[in-house]
Amino acid sequence: MKFNTKTIHGGQEHDPATGAVMPPIYQTSTYAQSSPGKHKGYEYSRAANPTRTALENNFAAIENGTHGFAFSSGLSAIDCVLKMLNPGDEIIANDDLYGGTYRMFTRMFEKYGLKFHFVNMEESSNVEELINKDTKLIWIETPTNPLMKIADIKEIAALTKAINKDILVAVDNTFATPYLQLPLDLGADIVMHSATKYLGGHSDILAGAVACSQEHIDKIWCVAKNLGGSLSDFMVWMLERSIKTLVIRVKEQNRNAKKLARFLNKNEDVKTVYYPGLKSHPDYELAKQQMRGFGGMISFELNEGLDAPKFLKSLKMIKPSMSLAGVESSMLLPAQTSHALISQKERDDLGIGNNLIRFSVGIESPKDIKDDIEQAIASVKVDELGFRL
Ligand SMILES: *Cc1c(COP(=O)(O)O)cnc(C)c1O
Repeated sequence: MKFNTKTIHGGQEHDPATGAVMPPIYQTSTYAQSSPGKHKGYEYSRAANPTRTALENNFAAIENGTHGFAFSSGLSAIDCVLKMLNPGDEIIANDDLYGGTYRMFTRMFEKYGLKFHFVNMEESSNVEELINKDTKLIWIETPTNPLMKIADIKEIAALTKAINKDILVAVDNTFATPYLQLPLDLGADIVMHSATKYLGGHSDILAGAVACSQEHIDKIWCVAKNLGGSLSDFMVWMLERSIKTLVIRVKEQNRNAKKLARFLNKNEDVKTVYYPGLKSHPDYELAKQQMRGFGGMISFELNEGLDAPKFLKSLKMIKPSMSLAGVESSMLLPAQTSHALISQKERDDLGIGNNLIRFSVGIESPKDIKDDIEQAIASVKVDELGFRL
């Protein structure tokens, strides 16, 4: 099956009891047994529920994995992967990571004896240099948030496995989506999603997902079952419904993002645009080769002297908000939100300036999005009395 078909039919069977085309919501915590211990594959819904099984099969199909797991949030999915490890184990991760992942790694897991190394993965050799006998996991996010750096999944997986084939390679595929990038096909063992973002796509659910190849199923299953963070029936059903329109949403977001990145790049009030689909982006060639499209996320920096918070406040249609990947466009200031808790110096070192804006491109008409940006830029170029700054 082609990808578009898989989002709709992959791993799906009509409900065996009634033929219902959409998996019904099995709103039950437990299942009657014909005699003690004899059941039809379902015992208790924390472990498995038919609604969730349908989603997990579909998710596995679209990520080209053999098994999928659905969690109550993206962080819950990451928690499960990290808990496959033991105290003393080492992890190598990107230096430009989703803020919540970074906080979980450093504030939750360091105290249990896991050791983290953070590196720029634009150079695969930076990963290679850090691998030692205690390395158990490579955690790759690509494209990264908010600087849109690209890591070469295939190269990093290959060099890691050449050193020790037991080191796990996991990819947070949230920004790319499986439509644009398939980490398991590139040699990763585990792929993870904040399904809250593009898979959900409508800013109305919180969910996480993990897919893997055959050899890791038992170990992940064992951790997932013991943690109890599985996704509830109704959220499962919402996510299942959303995945069916993933391709048309992401295609449109890609198309809009490409146009808007070019528009921002030409705008004299914008200092820098970070978008892997621009030829000026240092990872453009790699992104072109690794991904089917460049995604719907753009970061850009307004010129010095222009007030970025005022710019965001002046937007009329685009609403500043924390999340991303919805059908509606949204923007935020990483320095005031995701990276607010780190010092100015650390932010400067990372390249996250006070005028950097993260832009999640929606599926509105690109003309309306562009007009809104233009009027907001115009309004930060004048003072309260209307004089040009
Ligand atoms: C949002 C996000 C997460 C965390 O997912 P939640 O669903 O918010 O728990 C992890 N990684 C990336 C890249 C994200 O954007």
